[in-house]
Amino acid sequence: MTSREQAEALDAADPIGFLRTEFVGGDGGPIYLDGNSLGRQPRATAGRLAAAVAEWSDRLVAGWDDWIDLPTAVGDRIGALVGAGPGQVVVADSTTVNLFKLALAALDARPGRGAIVGDGDDFPTDRYVLQGLVERTGRPLQAEITPGAALVCLSAVHFRTGAVADMAGVTAAAHDAGALVLWDLSHAAGCVPVELDGIGADLAVGCSYKYLNGGPGAPAWLYVRRELQSRLRPPIWGWWGQRDQFALGESYDPVPGIDRFQAGTPPVMGIAAVAAGIEPLLAAGMPALWGKTQALVALLAERVEERLAPLGARLASPGEPSRRGGHLAVAHPEAWSLTRCLIERGEVIGDFRPPDVLRLAPVAAYTRFVDVWDAVERIAAVLADPRLGDRPAPPRRVT
Ligand SMILES: *Cc1c(COP(=O)(O)O)cnc(C)c1O
Repeated sequence: MTSREQAEALDAADPIGFLRTEFVGGDGGPIYLDGNSLGRQPRATAGRLAAAVAEWSDRLVAGWDDWIDLPTAVGDRIGALVGAGPGQVVVADSTTVNLFKLALAALDARPGRGAIVGDGDDFPTDRYVLQGLVERTGRPLQAEITPGAALVCLSAVHFRTGAVADMAGVTAAAHDAGALVLWDLSHAAGCVPVELDGIGADLAVGCSYKYLNGGPGAPAWLYVRRELQSRLRPPIWGWWGQRDQFALGESYDPVPGIDRFQAGTPPVMGIAAVAAGIEPLLAAGMPALWGKTQALVALLAERVEERLAPLGARLASPGEPSRRGGHLAVAHPEAWSLTRCLIERGEVIGDFRPPDVLRLAPVAAYTRFVDVWDAVERIAAVLADPRLGDRPAPPRRVT
């Protein structure tokens, strides 16, 4: 593409361009390319939260008659975004906690010393949870799937580079080795097409505050393939997984279905925000969202090569479009100062990932093609400033 007008034409022809108005903000001000850290706020969210607060004041404890079904009702709707039929997804806890619950349940179902297979370059919490399980169970941790492995736990989209895993191929290889497979879909759900049922995945987790727009700290979700649900024993024996929960029975006897993977009382307010967050995605449908994501990412990659490579930046994501998810990594020796400078000047909001990456996500639901065009021009202007490396940006607690 050689002109901004061509980007404008793509926006004019965009069949899901209307979604943008369902989110707060976005006109004027910085271009937001960080929706894979924290999705924008849907306009509907404030009203939904207000309604949930009113319901609390009006109904008090009687509200639980309806709230009790929220984790699975909203879980089913998330399932529709990741190729999971009803009754296999529940909203609960955080991604980290769900990862631990499902990984340990899977290991308990494969007694012995079978290996845990993980990616040494995965998102930190995934690595730490697996390290903890290695220490707890004495099993080896390895990068390759070998016969007799117990659990394969990987991210579908790499948090830094945006590289997509071959989910179907890895799942089949894990099964051939005798392992259960647990996918972390945090950077995939609501962005790239996922067919959990279709590929025969066993387990999955994901967060709700990135592409699912559930807000900071929104409750996460988990998937357990139907046939496995009654065979896996959750490591946390909570009363929300108990059969006939309000009989308050003496000993633990979990329900056969997905509810057994809940532990304690669900966060009703947070789930209300998750329900609002996914509505625009369900309205658009994953094929339209993915089609636009691919076009936005392709434009971004092309512009990075054309405009930013001559200024010392390098695309640190797969070059092959079919191997990319919804975000790109732009490597530059001054990436930290670049990221801070773009934010402080109110131009582009991306995020820095060590050691040298500016990460950019043109989220399909609310990013225009002209936003991609303009963002690259703004980044180029900062990179062309010879003073960029003179005063490195001070360290910050959150990057
Ligand atoms: C964002 C993300 C998480 C988040 O975990 P929390 O428990 O919500 O902090 C986990 N895994 C991956 C791969 C992520 O991208």
